[in-house]
Amino acid sequence: MSRYPFARIDLAALKHNLQQVRQYAPDSKVMSVIKADAYGHGFIKIAKALNQSDAFAVARLSEALALRQNGFQQPITIFEGVSSTEEWHLVSDYGLTAVLHQQQHLDSLINAGINRPLPAIWLMLETGMHRLGLPEPAIQQIIHQLEKRKDLVEQYGLMSHFANSDLLDDLRNQQQLAIMHKLAESTGLPVCMANSAAIISLPESHYDWVRPGLMLYGASPFADKSGADLRLKPVMQLVSKLIATQQLKPGDQVGYGGQWTADKPMRMGVVSIGYGDGYSRHLSNAGTVMIRGQYTPIIGRVSMDTICINLNDCPQAQLDDEVIIWGADGVTVEWLAEKAGTIPYELLTCVTPRVQREYLNG
Ligand SMILES: *Cc1c(COP(=O)(O)O)cnc(C)c1O
Repeated sequence: MSRYPFARIDLAALKHNLQQVRQYAPDSKVMSVIKADAYGHGFIKIAKALNQSDAFAVARLSEALALRQNGFQQPITIFEGVSSTEEWHLVSDYGLTAVLHQQQHLDSLINAGINRPLPAIWLMLETGMHRLGLPEPAIQQIIHQLEKRKDLVEQYGLMSHFANSDLLDDLRNQQQLAIMHKLAESTGLPVCMANSAAIISLPESHYDWVRPGLMLYGASPFADKSGADLRLKPVMQLVSKLIATQQLKPGDQVGYGGQWTADKPMRMGVVSIGYGDGYSRHLSNAGTVMIRGQYTPIIGRVSMDTICINLNDCPQAQLDDEVIIWGADGVTVEWLAEKAGTIPYELLTCVTPRVQREYLNG
């Protein structure tokens, strides 16, 4: 049975990238971000390979519980926090670390009557992103409340998130940092602020903890820099195979809507990958794949299960040849994301369960 398409996940590259995080931020602890099934890479295998991390972070309670159910004992931060009594009990019973970004969430914790104190929580400071976060006076107020409730929460720190850290030299990053810096100075609490882009470009944001996501998976967060420029190695290589070829005559149209027409006699190939695998339909007439080391452009629309490619520049291509969809020099996921009008985060997390993950160097 054919296993194509599949995602080849290089765990040695992942560990290399974690080492790079340590080199960029040598004095900080590392909270590896493995939300959204580890950016589409498969969270269990990725968490195992990242066991040198000081902690993990996910977006939701359900993701944290799945990690605990698979035996992971590390601290796990839940970025979205929790709000109900029942959820606070789970956080307490499983020793999880919630992010607090609403006063009501604290009220609900106080009323929840948890059985044992939470080892830690993060207080999310609003510094300019205007998504999850509380303004400084509200955080001061919460600190005041928590000081008297060590039976509820043993330790707490300050967290915030950059809105523009992928833009080098953007003044707004300095403005966000200044707001954090002021509260960090006056409270002396531990701070966690930097995502991948800030880890690489804003050393003054490293503080006590950093939280890399994308860079662990080997992709660059900057539009004008590649992963290789940043000493990162791509972790996922998405591969499939050539399942058909056809000879086209001038005037023949390819695929749904006839969005591409041959202008000369040519050979066309069909590759088994489509939007049902997470390959963006925005790459219709725009993407490129690699076959036998040769770039070949996509022609016509991306279908649910297949794409068509122009084989004129690769006459040696044969049925069943392996095709690299992304994750090689020249067809990086960052480059394709730009072609699709999106970001590598989206392409990686959109790879569907139909695509098997195969792990190398585990
Ligand atoms: C996803 C996320 C991160 C990781 O960001 P990257 O850009 O992937 O490094 C860090 N912090 C928060 C709050 C996040 O939601």
